[in-house]
Amino acid sequence: MPGIKDLRNKITIITGAGSGIGRSTALAFARKGADLVIADLSEERLAEVAREIEVLGARVLTRQVDVSKREEVDAFAKFVHRERGRVDILHNNAGVNLSGTVAESSIENWEWIFGINFWGVLYGVKAFLPYMIERRYGHIVNTASMFGLCAPPATPAYNATKFAVVGLGEGLRAEVRKYNIGVTTLCPGIVNTRIVADSRMEIKDNSIVTRDNLVQFYEKFALKPECVANAVVKAVRHNKSVVPVGPDAWALWMTKRFSQTLSDGIMMLSSRMLFGKS
Ligand code: NAD
Repeated sequence: MPGIKDLRNKITIITGAGSGIGRSTALAFARKGADLVIADLSEERLAEVAREIEVLGARVLTRQVDVSKREEVDAFAKFVHRERGRVDILHNNAGVNLSGTVAESSIENWEWIFGINFWGVLYGVKAFLPYMIERRYGHIVNTASMFGLCAPPATPAYNATKFAVVGLGEGLRAEVRKYNIGVTTLCPGIVNTRIVADSRMEIKDNSIVTRDNLVQFYEKFALKPECVANAVVKAVRHNKSVVPVGPDAWALWMTKRFSQTLSDGIMMLSSRMLFGKS
């Protein structure tokens, strides 16, 4: 099945578009002439991004949506259909991070992160898919992570949400092909965005995983969100399935596919680096 080659005037919905990967992706689609509908928790961030999109000459609608609330996502889908009459591309991108081992992190925080990173994606798919099926047309991108392909220590809740998104995408892609709908699962490595600064932290012991350390590490070594945005555009145009982005994502994915034992060894080593031997 070919992807959507010509992005001009395509109604493109992006959640979590107020910052980072979502913002850059919205701007990349705007440059290709897409017609954007952007959503986020933060109205201020949305207003800023909308101004940037308009400067590029593209059309844009904004909507404050909490993706973890099913009724808000359903109302959002109806809003888009009412305002624009159709849905061409949906990018379920909003997401958050939680640092903390299984022993340390609270069930409440696991429920919080699953609400956004997994249920937010599923609500988006369920709300918009019927419009795509009706027209036998569309493409869905779900943002997972390289941590949806391999699971490092210190972020088990985040990893679990992203593994769930990868699993959802693989089955969904096979199911909706007959309706001429493509599905991409985006798996970036580390990207320099607000995600760490805005994350919840539940690391209590001798870990070197502090917010300041992580922010500094991301500023030095992480990929720019624009690289991920370009990968999303390419994935929609060529109907790509699983899309690792960045050398770290590719290396970890290839290692895991080559040898689970080797992958386990790397995770064990990183656990020692983060928490020491005891
Ligand atoms: P970011 O914090 O810069 O942007 C996330 C946006 O999502 C924010 O504007 C925030 O307001 C919004 N958001 C948070 N909760 C929401 C909710 N309940 N409803 C609606 N919007 C909400 O982070 P980012 O790095 O651009 O993250 C985007 C996606 O990319 C996430 O799914 C994240 O897990 C994923 N990702 C990030 C990285 C990375 O290293 N930054 C790597 C792989 C995957």
